[in-house]
Amino acid sequence: MRRKLRVLFAAFEAVPFMKTGGLGDVGGSLPQALREAGCECRVIIPKFMTISEEYKSKMTHVTDFYVSLGWRNVYCGIEKLTYKGVVYYFVDNEYYFNRERAYGYFDDGERIAYFSKAIVECLQYLPDFKCDVLHCNDWHTALAPVFLREFYQGIPLYENVKTVFSVHNLKFQGQMSDYVLGDILGLWGIPAAASQLRSDDHSVNFMKGALLYSDLLSTVSKTYAEEIKTPFFGEHMDGIFRDRASILYGVMNGIDTKTWDPATDPMIPCHYTAADRAGKAQCKAELQRELGLEVNPDIPLVVMIGRLTEQKGMDLVQRVIGEMLDKAQFAVLGTGDKQYEDMLSYYNWERGGRCSACIRFDEALSHRMYAGADMLLMPSLFEPCGLSQMIAMRYGTLPVVRETGGLKDSVQPYNQYTGEGTGFSFENYNAHDMLYTVQHACELFWTNRDDWNRLIDNAMAADFSWSRAAQEYLAMYQRTHPEIEPWIKKKDGDETEEE
Ligand code: ADP
Repeated sequence: MRRKLRVLFAAFEAVPFMKTGGLGDVGGSLPQALREAGCECRVIIPKFMTISEEYKSKMTHVTDFYVSLGWRNVYCGIEKLTYKGVVYYFVDNEYYFNRERAYGYFDDGERIAYFSKAIVECLQYLPDFKCDVLHCNDWHTALAPVFLREFYQGIPLYENVKTVFSVHNLKFQGQMSDYVLGDILGLWGIPAAASQLRSDDHSVNFMKGALLYSDLLSTVSKTYAEEIKTPFFGEHMDGIFRDRASILYGVMNGIDTKTWDPATDPMIPCHYTAADRAGKAQCKAELQRELGLEVNPDIPLVVMIGRLTEQKGMDLVQRVIGEMLDKAQFAVLGTGDKQYEDMLSYYNWERGGRCSACIRFDEALSHRMYAGADMLLMPSLFEPCGLSQMIAMRYGTLPVVRETGGLKDSVQPYNQYTGEGTGFSFENYNAHDMLYTVQHACELFWTNRDDWNRLIDNAMAADFSWSRAAQEYLAMYQRTHPEIEPWIKKKDGDETEEE
């Protein structure tokens, strides 16, 4: 049988309907790329109060039913909207989702259990969509694979449904008091399920359920998929990742290459391409002027854009910032821990002209910084994927990164013998290793412009599009349904499928 795989992508966030972090970008971009790769991907998210009226007014009602949640019987409406060619389903329940924010409520456990149950329940009510793969993301959807197997196993329509669970953020797992087992999840009477969800005598862990019940697991880079099998990175789940290593994949996220494009970006002062980079030099001069730095093309300009936290390597920066400023200009855009904000503000004051600290969230400035800098520093302690380094490369700004997670997978370090590479990297979480790597990059900037320019060419040519990620996900989905031959788009555009 040759036909398109039918995938329901379940998440709490998808741009432009809801975004609080990277998951929103994935939910907004990946389904479209999957569609283009030749799979029938639809998305399901909650119908949040904050979704713009522009979209709400175009939604149509598909169906409604009741979801059992422990002793509760709760209304669930399913609304539908086609956006950029992708069908989005919205789970409608005003009690749970008519709120100001996506998360952070006392009853998040109940809201999330409800959403997971609604996803599974609705599979039998979607008139034109028979799901092959249910792709769940992060702890907000982690109970869906559990409910699917425990409550719906015997129903023929569900026998075909395989589950994929992707970890975007391992820090948030949904750890709850075990009273929810009976009161909300209705699993008290199923000892095997209860014991798999338990994390200790008094608590259950939603993500643990997904990691044990899903047919395939993935996370957002190949190196991170290896790292989470160790106690340091594994957040107490490393044992499960080791046990299930044969079904654990690493698929690196992409970036939106239309938004992040120095040839068309409306937020940067001059446009440029890999072939003609004159505009980049002008962007640098403008940025130096804007940030109060000395306007000088020969001083390397290093930037950092992101959260000012220990995860992002700020303690390394704090240790050697003075020595770094002796070699290069350093500009930071970000917010985070107060001690780092204060430290950067101090250097901004003490070494003005050489150091700039913008302690705020500023989307437009971030574009100007990606375009105007020579290097982007990202010395993370851990980094599941990381977007900033990919965006920087697209703008011909060479990343200086620690070799961890997605940073290791996306940045090819400079090889002084062959001239190959797309940036610079160091291995140990050590301030002086970082400093040495920045200094080494500055030396190259001054003394070997041929190699420097070749690195920029390589960085700008790297493929960080979502279509690469979509192909890898598609291969994963196909593994769950070997009986379905991959669908290939015919040249004449004929979209008929064989059953
Ligand atoms: P995180 O771990 O925070 O998700 P990523 O590198 O994956 O880190 O993504 C961070 C994204 O947020 C990037 O697109 C970066 O440009 C953006 N960003 C972070 N901080 C700021 C800020 N202060 N102003 C503008 N954009 C920011």
